[in-house]
Amino acid sequence: MIEHSHYLSNTAKNLKPSGIRKFFDLAAGMEGVISLGVGEPDFVTSWNVREACIQSLEQGYTSYTGNAGLIELREEISYYLQKITNKYYNPKSQLLVTVGASQALDIALRAIINPGDEVLIIDPSFVSYAALVDLAGGVPVMVRTKGEEEFKLQPEALEAAITDKTKAIIICSPSNPTGTVLRKEELERLAVIIEKHDLLVISDEIYSELTYDEEYTSFASIEGMTDRTILISGFSKAFAMTGWRLGYVAANEEFLQAMLKIHQYSMLCAPTMAQYAAIEALKNGFDDVAHMKKSYRQRRNLVVSALNDMGLTCHTPGGAFYVFPSIRKTNLTSEQFAEQLLLEEKVAVVPGSVFGESGEGYIRCSYASSLEQLQEALKKMQRFVDKF
Ligand code: PMP
Repeated sequence: MIEHSHYLSNTAKNLKPSGIRKFFDLAAGMEGVISLGVGEPDFVTSWNVREACIQSLEQGYTSYTGNAGLIELREEISYYLQKITNKYYNPKSQLLVTVGASQALDIALRAIINPGDEVLIIDPSFVSYAALVDLAGGVPVMVRTKGEEEFKLQPEALEAAITDKTKAIIICSPSNPTGTVLRKEELERLAVIIEKHDLLVISDEIYSELTYDEEYTSFASIEGMTDRTILISGFSKAFAMTGWRLGYVAANEEFLQAMLKIHQYSMLCAPTMAQYAAIEALKNGFDDVAHMKKSYRQRRNLVVSALNDMGLTCHTPGGAFYVFPSIRKTNLTSEQFAEQLLLEEKVAVVPGSVFGESGEGYIRCSYASSLEQLQEALKKMQRFVDKF
């Protein structure tokens, strides 16, 4: 037997496991758990999209695609992004198809970070950002936000966090974990500071199709920001395609070519059959997106009103499929709350603290579950909260 830990890299040793994992593992060992913990749609991918994949297999399209992805898919993405951002991304030089938005984030960070470069992350944030910055050799810097301000990054807080080592900021709107959507004017105020300090922006727009109250604004569409924005998106959320592992990145040609170099060695290309499915999703999938969106909106309204009624106060999030209520009235930490709720009522939620210090005192509940399950979970939560 060799001493395996002796061989591990310091990077691997120092990387902390995701705080979400711990709760999934705990819940996995229990029966009858209703999970509001997972960050993925409860819908199955639309049949026409699955069928396009099946057809591609029937035709024998089982080899690699070009490194950047099928040109037909990149053309569809370009067409789609033009509608969203009002900007033209050249499918041949400014678009790259990736293995989920996750890989797009990874290569975007690796393409721009030198050792010690600081990357600002809005706290609370999606758990992968800080880890990916670390893995790329950078320094993640969490910028705090407040529940009373709907966890919106304030320009003053942004400016105060900038040092001469700051290279970029990651913006995620609609946000995981808070569901908060930044309006055009709010993005414009951040853009002023970003331009003043010459920062790059990684804009994670994976939830852009899932906004419920107002029209979505892409950061790349803000005046003067297109060239300094690396736009990341994908098929997982809007098209209910998490398992297909397909995303993309759109950026200035030089950034894109740098990412493509990393991608061609580490990934070669995104899965071919998933790319054929994605073409169909972009061509004919938006009626189903509208249908799912309507359903999420209805569930959001139900969950927000029930949580506020039981004293777990929360703002009405404009997008994604998460609510982020305060659990302060219970005097528990967010981890204690999640653990006790799971053990006593078999409802899984995620403690806000796993998303950053600003998340302490809150929990993340995903409403990507059926109405019946949500109603059942809310009843159990009410019973749990009534004890305090
Ligand atoms: N960004 C955010 C904000 C997410 O919530 C997720 C999925 N939880 C991802 C990126 C990763 O998405 P994908 O499945 O496309 O890798």
